[in-house]
Amino acid sequence: MKTLSILGSTGSIGQNVLEVVRHNRTNFKIFALSCHKNIELMKLQCLEFSPNFAVVSTHQDAKKLAEHLKHKVDTEVLFEEGALSFIVQHADVTHVVAAIANSAGLKSTYDASKAGKEILLANKESMVMAGPLILSQVSENNSRIIPIDSEHNAIYQVLNNEVNIESQVKKVILTASGGPFLNESLEKIDSATVEQALNHPNWKMGDKITIDSATMMNKALEVIEAFYLFDLPKAKIDVVVHPQSIIHSMVEFVDGSILCQLGFSDMKIPISYALGYPERITSGLRGIDLTTIENLSFSKPDFQKFPCLKLAYDVLGKTLSHSIVLNIANEIAVEAFLDKKIKFNQIFVIVNEMLSKLKNENLLSIDDIFSFSEFVGKQTRFYLQEHYKI
Ligand code: MG
Repeated sequence: MKTLSILGSTGSIGQNVLEVVRHNRTNFKIFALSCHKNIELMKLQCLEFSPNFAVVSTHQDAKKLAEHLKHKVDTEVLFEEGALSFIVQHADVTHVVAAIANSAGLKSTYDASKAGKEILLANKESMVMAGPLILSQVSENNSRIIPIDSEHNAIYQVLNNEVNIESQVKKVILTASGGPFLNESLEKIDSATVEQALNHPNWKMGDKITIDSATMMNKALEVIEAFYLFDLPKAKIDVVVHPQSIIHSMVEFVDGSILCQLGFSDMKIPISYALGYPERITSGLRGIDLTTIENLSFSKPDFQKFPCLKLAYDVLGKTLSHSIVLNIANEIAVEAFLDKKIKFNQIFVIVNEMLSKLKNENLLSIDDIFSFSEFVGKQTRFYLQEHYKI
């Protein structure tokens, strides 16, 4: 039996993880759940799954949740600093589902890697901001990261730990849906509203990642994620636009064969693979009826329409400080866009500007990364104040 700590259990990924667990109850014990502020849903999850621990963000929420759970379920509610590290590193835990959104998920992923836990990774920012550090902990502890991000999960399935990437893989091909603006004109994209940008054609996700899909910054982050996770040279990472989101990524081998993974655009599929590994478990979904698929199309991404994607290739192979700036500046810019304080096309302008201001930093420890990230956050907010009066 696998014993899980699920970080970010009330988010979109966390809810899907618990849905897969529902279909496979005898395979998993839920040791702990954590959430940011959705206490109502956390209450229901605790009542259903009786975790040993539930972690919330504030004292007030902890009090409220503990009151709700009293006499109903034996869950201890924690909120103090260090609570996340505790549920991640506890000796009883075998697997950590890292599904906290954005850079806020980095510390707990790193803690899990240090404790030698198997990490089911949905938080791509952990790889983007600290990939080499986390991976060296994972290999020192003889542990493993299984990606939940659907593209990387597809590549992981295809590679299946069996091939020598350096000699056998010609390239990995990340697929991108192209988001809601794939066929829109540059002018329309530039002035897109929040509502238009949140209207993703294929995937139902949280707001931040949905905006990242619309700018294709999500794909940029995924290119960087793949670079570290699979230890690939920049030249071996390709992106193709595949609007149907049926193929979730591919690997081209040196002999010319291309292998891929197909499935519905539903996160329960990569989640099931990660939770079940090395076995296959049910996701609760029916399979695709191939005869209903009329068309699988592929095209090159348009860097002019989606300049954020190009930024990934600009920062790859440079020091970690570059991908950290890309990620932090983007998080702050997207927040400002969602608050309707900047225009859609200004997300790229801000990230690009912050990258150009960057002085190359050599970040050697996780503490270096945290303090540099904080610095970049401050600089970006200062820039927004100065130029956009936010
Ligand atoms: Mg993805």
